Amino acid sequence: MNEEQAKQRVKEVRELLEKYSYEYYVLDQPTVPDAEYDRLLQELIELENNHPTLRDEHSPTVRVGGQVLDFFRKVEHKVPMLSLGNAFNEEDLRDFDRRVRNAVGDNVSYVAELKIDGLAVSLTYEEGRFVLGATRGDGTIGEDITNNLRTIHAIPLKVKGEAVSLEVRGEAYMPKRSFQKLNEARQEEGQELFANPRNAAAGSLRQLDPKIAAKRNLSIFVYGMGQLAGKTIEHHSEGLHFLKEAGFKTNPEWKQCDTIEDVITFVHSWGERRPHLDYEIDGIVIKVDSYYQQEELGFTAKSPRWAIAYKFPAEEVVTKLLGIELSV
Ligand code: NAD
Repeated sequence: MNEEQAKQRVKEVRELLEKYSYEYYVLDQPTVPDAEYDRLLQELIELENNHPTLRDEHSPTVRVGGQVLDFFRKVEHKVPMLSLGNAFNEEDLRDFDRRVRNAVGDNVSYVAELKIDGLAVSLTYEEGRFVLGATRGDGTIGEDITNNLRTIHAIPLKVKGEAVSLEVRGEAYMPKRSFQKLNEARQEEGQELFANPRNAAAGSLRQLDPKIAAKRNLSIFVYGMGQLAGKTIEHHSEGLHFLKEAGFKTNPEWKQCDTIEDVITFVHSWGERRPHLDYEIDGIVIKVDSYYQQEELGFTAKSPRWAIAYKFPAEEVVTKLLGIELSV
């Protein structure tokens, strides 16, 4: 492909990705499967790598998430809420492991966690009390959805134990059963159906009336911290224990892995078991356990170098639900 052809293709792919991102993040109504979005994004990454003059700071390859809706108050994240680099096969995971070891040496341990397919949120607690809940938004600016998040019973309004000030991060989600019931009710009422639990959760939390979110039976898994005042935690695994003790709902299915081969075994076992969960997962997140090593590894513009998301291969692209064919 010559430079002119590459330029033309980059333009086409960026336009498509921007359109799909708008439908997914702003309208909560995707029109293509995630796998198609991911395929186009990979194509764009390769084109930009092969033709560095075509790189652009506004490209979907460096931007996180979507636009922020104007009717919510805007919240600036003190610590940016980033995306994650992707791995699609074992080789990508081994490459990640090599990059990590090259940077911090061989004494590395990973934590492998389920990648919950919901909406990323940040919860701020001041002296133990829940004061602010926000969406990830574009990573720097999110939407204040505190009133909607308060309706989720799994979110503690007050942390247990010491009245600490902290900001935690997690994934708000709609259980599969609630999603099915919701769509059944919507079908009876002749309303448009949600494409999947992720979009139903995001659509419910980005409503002005908190009564709607309250009826939707949402839940959350908290998986990390943005900030924590007055306490020293040195490992992510220790952070997960701390969050659980503080009353947050953490996902129990995480595993400490001393080698990337252990991670790969975990990935495959969940690839098979995922249909049995009552919530959707779209992959496995692998994180370097030591915060000290995380700091050494740092970040790219879009994602941390100390973590990666393995994406499961796309499930049946056309899902048969309630006898109706949904295209995503
Ligand atoms: P991502 O989904 O690849 O990963 C980052 C997110 O994973 C984090 O923000 C976090 O909220 C979440 N996460 C879940 N469990 C986690 C855990 N245990 N630890 C840490 N993080 C965890 O990245 P993204 O930037 O949110 O968006 C890309 C996704 O959105 C892709 O899956 C893409 O296919 C989809 N998308 C689809 C369309 C479409 O039209 N179908 C459009 C845009 C984006």
